[in-house]
Amino acid sequence: MSILVMKFGGTSVGSTQKILAAAEKAIREKEAGHQVVVTVSAMSGETDRLLNLANEIDPAGSPREKDMLASTGEQVSIALFSIAVQKLGYPAISFIAPQIDMKTDRAHQKARLKSIDGAKIQTALNEDKIVVIAGFQGVTDEGEITTLGRGGSDTTAVAIAAVLGAQCDIYTDVDGVYAADPRIVPKAKRIPVLSYEEMLEMASSGAKVLHTRSVQFAAKYNVPLQVRSSFDDKPGTMIIQEVKTMEQVVVSAITHSMKEAKVTLSGIADKPGTAATIFKFLAEKNINVDMIVQNVAEGDLADISFTVERTDVPYIKKVEMELRSLVDAKKLTYDDKIAKISAIGVGMRTHAGVAARMFDVLAAKGINILMISTSEIKISCVIEEAYTELAVRALCEEFGLEKGEGE
Ligand code: ADP
Ligand code: ASP
Ligand code: MG
Repeated sequence: MSILVMKFGGTSVGSTQKILAAAEKAIREKEAGHQVVVTVSAMSGETDRLLNLANEIDPAGSPREKDMLASTGEQVSIALFSIAVQKLGYPAISFIAPQIDMKTDRAHQKARLKSIDGAKIQTALNEDKIVVIAGFQGVTDEGEITTLGRGGSDTTAVAIAAVLGAQCDIYTDVDGVYAADPRIVPKAKRIPVLSYEEMLEMASSGAKVLHTRSVQFAAKYNVPLQVRSSFDDKPGTMIIQEVKTMEQVVVSAITHSMKEAKVTLSGIADKPGTAATIFKFLAEKNINVDMIVQNVAEGDLADISFTVERTDVPYIKKVEMELRSLVDAKKLTYDDKIAKISAIGVGMRTHAGVAARMFDVLAAKGINILMISTSEIKISCVIEEAYTELAVRALCEEFGLEKGEGE
């Protein structure tokens, strides 16, 4: 019998009525002949509410305790979901991560899944139950509770699908993946089919419709992945290995991320080993760095700027003096009013000049570029946060990503 993993995000389980509606969808798939595993997120707003409580006490509070706190949101929604399925007349059972050995490494708040006990899930499925599993959370070999990073329930769902050889449907509040966040560009085109590669670049550069690791798992284990709406029955966006099209699309999507902050270390020695010292120190503290630029300042001194997740800033502040003294930096400054705007498309492999077009569009709108990075199929620019919407809209227009164009 085929297995289907259905993931419902926060807004899809935001009230008891919505939970009942989602439970009905799961039952319909079961009646259609699938064995059904459901993964749910916390009810909408709940993870924010919990983490804000911790931040009221201490923004640099212990990551272990923040995981103990944030993981409870999913425990509430799996129990309610299971009760809803049972109320509708079908057997169901819910599990939190330790009960199915959902093992991760020890990196609290950004843990990586290592293994899952598929046998226990399979046994419950064979007993004809709908199995409801908490998203977002994991457990270390030592029995410590971890979380997979914000948006991590997608990764739980895809990892379970990979272990069970299932397909995975991600139910959310949009009816698929769009060429830009529809909240910012309501006219953005919907993308019916997308390659893992492009989706991965989109997710990692800020399209929060899917968690980055979920796309990595899907690509690695060839999990058929669909993003679709919780609120209707239309097919959504399929994400697959390779998309064959006659169309010559250069840029497929524009993404934005306002989750990063820029940190600048000024007045450091311009000599071999300085960058190594800084980034080794940050890596040891489990702080992930995205973009890096170095400017030669006056004399023999240089500035290094890098971007990190905004949620890591309180932890950098905690060790700021240590970091500064390691490289003898004159100053350390933070800027969290930045946004990263990216253009993505496999067409960039065969078309030159995309970067120039992107810079031109930003210049025409009077938007200054603070940092640039490129990869084979992506160009990213850091700009001032206030210009995010203007930049995304202008780029969608430039690259023909609005509805009605080229259709
Ligand atoms: P869930 O709670 O279901 O996981 P998320 O809020 O994490 O939902 O993700 C869905 C949201 O992602 C949408 O409401 C949309 O605003 C946002 N989003 C950002 N970029 C895109 C995109 N390119 N296509 C579709 N949705 C996007
Ligand atoms: N509840 C978690 C969050 O809000 C995980 C998720 O929604 O995927 O980040
Ligand atoms: Mg999400």
